[in-house]
Amino acid sequence: MATLSFPRPQAATLAGEPRQERLRDRFGRAITDLRLSVTDRCNYRCVYCRTGEEGAIYSELATEDYLRMARILISLGIEKIRLTGGEPLLRSGLVEMVRELAELRTAFLPDGTPTATGQPVDLALTTNGHLLDLLAEPLKRAGLGRVTVSMDAVEPETFAAITRVPKSFERVLSGVRKAAEVGLGPVKINCVLLRGFNDHQIEAFAEFSRRESVIVRFIEFMPLEEDRSWRPDTVVRMEELIDRLNAFRPLVELPPHAASETARRYTFDDGLGEIGVIAPVSRPFCGHCSRIRITSDGKLRTCLFSQSDYDLYGRMLRGGTDEELRAYIREIVFQKEERHHIGEPGFEKPSRNMVHIGG
Ligand code: SF4
Repeated sequence: MATLSFPRPQAATLAGEPRQERLRDRFGRAITDLRLSVTDRCNYRCVYCRTGEEGAIYSELATEDYLRMARILISLGIEKIRLTGGEPLLRSGLVEMVRELAELRTAFLPDGTPTATGQPVDLALTTNGHLLDLLAEPLKRAGLGRVTVSMDAVEPETFAAITRVPKSFERVLSGVRKAAEVGLGPVKINCVLLRGFNDHQIEAFAEFSRRESVIVRFIEFMPLEEDRSWRPDTVVRMEELIDRLNAFRPLVELPPHAASETARRYTFDDGLGEIGVIAPVSRPFCGHCSRIRITSDGKLRTCLFSQSDYDLYGRMLRGGTDEELRAYIREIVFQKEERHHIGEPGFEKPSRNMVHIGG
């Protein structure tokens, strides 16, 4: 198990004045990224996620509730918000929510100094792409900056076999092209690799990245599915993947955009195409984790693999003031997990599965 390095805690005061500190956990990690799930409904039933029976019950809060949570978290140092689900494009009023979120500005400068004139919050969205061809343009106009599309195959049969929705591939492909056309690019494609399901598509995905000018990110399969069928041998580990890609065409590693970036970046020797490898199982990146999550029913989760979640929405309903909620969030985030323990003795799967966490 690689030893993790943690950034050192910042100085607490400036010239003796206690100053508003940005959100950090007990390891000194600055928490700047929020994954906000706006629904746990989904119109796909992907084999590595929705493995249980179709549930009619789903949870969504009012737009104003998510906006209030976002404002409070931004005042504590959140700079990036990624909208997730379930499938966020199913959420009614999404374009309006994006418009309101896009007006919010960060509360800290990059060096951690509080500011009243911050940057616009970096707004992104992860979708299965089925409705993207219809919504890409209005979302872009409303202020959405970037989009990531979950695609686990680049040919119709395997795509339909994984999503269990016929004729879905063509819809998603036109959504990806529309997103690029309206300026939501470079479009990122997230592909969860499952041995025996779609690992035969690795070279086709490399070709797809080069042909469509999209960034293809391969993700190691994590134990987050409904029926707990994950096994270590279903994971296509980073080394094996890199060998396959190098055999396809020599890779050239690219520098990360930020220390907290989860993907290792590559292009090919001719500079065409970009590949990312997200390897939480074989090469964990928890040391620089900057993420927390709000589930669609308003629970705060400090890690994808948390065993518990905290009822932020419940405190709002019981009349918590913004100041009280800030103190509550600080307390919870300070206790954020050091890392996940996948594959270690005693590893426990998280209390929720992916569709109810929100990626
Ligand atoms: S497993 Fe938890 S700590 Fe590690 S990167 Fe993911 S969210 Fe962060």
